[in-house]
Amino acid sequence: MRTITGAAPVRGGATGVHRPLWSLTMKAVRRFTVRASVPEELSGLTALATNLRWTWHPPTRDLFASMDDPLFRRIRDPLRMLTAVPAERLRELAADEDFLARTRAATEDLERYLTEPRWYQRRAAEGDGQRCPEGVAYFSMEFGVHEALPNYSGGLGVLAGDHLKAASDLGVPMIGVGPLYRSGYFRQSLSLDGWQVEHYPVIDPSGLPLELLTEPSGEPVLVHVAMPGGRELRAQVWLARVGRVPLLLLDTDIDGNDDDLRGVTDRLYGGDADHRIRQEILAGIGGMRAVRRYCELTGHPQPEVFHTNEGHAGFLGLERAREILAAGGPGFDEVLQAVRAGTVFTTHTPVSAGIDRFPVDLVQRYFGDGRLLPAIDVRRVLALGAEDNPGMFNMAHMGLRLAQRANGVSALHGRVSRRMFARLWPGFDEDEVPVRSVTNGVHGPTWVAREMSALLGGSDEEWGHDGPGSSGGPGSGIDGGVTDEQLWDLRRDLRAKLVAEVRRRARDAWLQRGASALELGWTERIFDPDVLTVGFARRVPTYKRLTLMLRDPDRLRALLLDDDHPIQVVVAGKSHPADEGGKALIQQIVRFVDDPAVRQRIVFLPDYDMSMARYLYRGCDVWLNNPTRPLEACGTSGMKAALNGCLNLSIRDGWWDEYYDGSNGWAIPTADGVSDPLVRDDLEAAALYDLLGQQIAPLFYDRDPNGVPKGWLSMIWHTLRTLGPRVQASRMVREYVESYYLPAATTVADATADSYAGSRSLAEYRRRLDTYWSRVRVVDTDLTVDGDSLVVGTEARVRARIDLAGLGESEVSVQAVVGRVGDTDDLHDVVTVPMEPSGRGEFTARLRLPHAGALGYTVRVLPRHRLLASPAELGKVVHA
Ligand SMILES: *Cc1c(COP(=O)(O)O)cnc(C)c1O
Repeated sequence: MRTITGAAPVRGGATGVHRPLWSLTMKAVRRFTVRASVPEELSGLTALATNLRWTWHPPTRDLFASMDDPLFRRIRDPLRMLTAVPAERLRELAADEDFLARTRAATEDLERYLTEPRWYQRRAAEGDGQRCPEGVAYFSMEFGVHEALPNYSGGLGVLAGDHLKAASDLGVPMIGVGPLYRSGYFRQSLSLDGWQVEHYPVIDPSGLPLELLTEPSGEPVLVHVAMPGGRELRAQVWLARVGRVPLLLLDTDIDGNDDDLRGVTDRLYGGDADHRIRQEILAGIGGMRAVRRYCELTGHPQPEVFHTNEGHAGFLGLERAREILAAGGPGFDEVLQAVRAGTVFTTHTPVSAGIDRFPVDLVQRYFGDGRLLPAIDVRRVLALGAEDNPGMFNMAHMGLRLAQRANGVSALHGRVSRRMFARLWPGFDEDEVPVRSVTNGVHGPTWVAREMSALLGGSDEEWGHDGPGSSGGPGSGIDGGVTDEQLWDLRRDLRAKLVAEVRRRARDAWLQRGASALELGWTERIFDPDVLTVGFARRVPTYKRLTLMLRDPDRLRALLLDDDHPIQVVVAGKSHPADEGGKALIQQIVRFVDDPAVRQRIVFLPDYDMSMARYLYRGCDVWLNNPTRPLEACGTSGMKAALNGCLNLSIRDGWWDEYYDGSNGWAIPTADGVSDPLVRDDLEAAALYDLLGQQIAPLFYDRDPNGVPKGWLSMIWHTLRTLGPRVQASRMVREYVESYYLPAATTVADATADSYAGSRSLAEYRRRLDTYWSRVRVVDTDLTVDGDSLVVGTEARVRARIDLAGLGESEVSVQAVVGRVGDTDDLHDVVTVPMEPSGRGEFTARLRLPHAGALGYTVRVLPRHRLLASPAELGKVVHA
């Protein structure tokens, strides 16, 4: 198992793999099989098969399907097609003028896609003073691009994949980087009594759409990372092409490594703290080194902005500090300013328990001997991850301290994150904590059924989200042209495809559980293409409440078996292998669905992954989500469902809290204040049954004389029209570009120009604050109003005398803050007005009283420096 076929495909000459010229890249690791058997005339197919753009480009898939349709339907992977199609058929195709012409057209289309200017290039040409970075590196522990590259566990990875795809469509010069796992995430099956069983199929990278990154000598590129005890961890680097975006995947399973180190990238989210810190050191520090080498070899511009998808790869900031120090840059404090300026940190967890932490002595062990990051004192490292518990190192805290810009993944999650991290910014109101939000999105071309985009008239390009004109929503059909009947036929077609898939998978699952084929005739009759279909598929942590629907089994049974308005339910989800509680929940579901009385209407499908997800999001009528609010940071499956005309039925959590508008689906009322979780479950489950039985099913079955549910369809049209554009990953990536990447690149340029003059100035300023800040105080203040009537809008003058304790007037911001006061004198609904110096330490401002009722005001002093992104950034404030 240890040898890697194709680990060192020595090839002379062809160095670097960046340019979209397949002639350079054809010689990937599959040379033994592919090059030997694909006739020269068909060489374009290899380029098409090794760029994962085919995963969101149906015409490319059609081309491969036309080689051998039944075969393609079985393996669904163009690269594997090239080895699986019989040689005789390949020879036939090589002589088939029509096929050759279509291959040529497809390769030309890919070439055009890879090279033409797109949204980002046009944005860069606008020249509005913001710097458009020439490169952005995106770090994630998992990437879910397609099931053909099983390197993800769930939402976080699929989001990362969608981020890269949308970046590619928009032309954002992004490089993705993360580990490549030998066993990816586990495959799930069930035991006879419904217990989750895990399998870890070992993948062979040379069988995946990957190429090994090589040095000019032809040797594999090796990234080195120092380990304690004088050891070295090495990783080779695989390249996946995600459209225009290179994705670099680090693999430690190579001969040069000690046995235990070969296993660093063995599997996703397995192992103890020691295993995890090695993975994260590899992802952050090794990942950074891989990106550098990749850019050197290929001429891809070096990234200016570094985005971490969750905090696992946070050590990358320290590696960048090391680089600058090694190049003779200024001191660590100065370097840190430059590093922070270019780092964006996205947090995904709404609970402290979900944050990645390590024992301090573990961090000490890896960073303490000075080999991993020479010139960086381990005490500086430890300080960056400090938290309340002095024995723990907190990756999220380090993430926030090393990133000048940070965000949560929905508006609600942004608020929850500001509260969660408020202690890092003492003295500030929660809403001033500098953690903002970008609501996640999903990659439309990946997730929308092609039947849907075809009906609604969106061309593939139009669905490719390239530009301001194309909202990314469906095409012209949505605003007329397509009738209710047509849309309803399509919905039925998608539902029927799901039903066929359910039957197939249910049968396979039973065969795996040990049933014999003879007993399984019933699986061909389960589900019905005309019954209201509800989907519920997600990982199984407690907060997602997989079994909420079982709260009152009789009520659920009644809904399933209703004579007039039956519903059918597909359930799927994996439990973390170490989570026995989660497995018990799965078993509970499985026991319920195994009952012959209900099994034609409810099913649990094992092994939820992208290939199953696709059928579910497209074929369901209702997508159910019932997390305990506010524990779902965003959730994206419901977005994918919405794009296909499936309506959401969800607790108002994550994205749904923000996007639910009263007529694009249903909100399950939350029993937010109820502290007893069982009572809360009872209340919310009852609300769920009520909605399903009293509103949703009646609406679905309310038909016009042609059998069309007009009311239902009007909700689908509304969903497509209003949610369609907003749930797109292209909207999300554009937001990151405009509000994070561009400002970050602009600040970096300012911080690093003239031998880091900006960084030096900010570091020097921070040192001055350390000396003087504790003595800054507001000596006295007053608020005066002309005349004597206080009404809303009356102009007031606020004056304050400030003792700046040696700081200059231009080094601080002084603000007057006016708002409502309650009994405790806390200010709410505040209006903040800058105060101007008026000589002799006095500052004044004019403002209008903003509210009626009890008001209060205060004055505060904040740091000011042009390289700060937010006045709260340094966590310093002095109040009157
Ligand atoms: C989209 C997706 C998820 C994430 O869905 P949530 O709504 O965040 O639970 C998980 N798994 C797969 C396979 C997905 O495609």
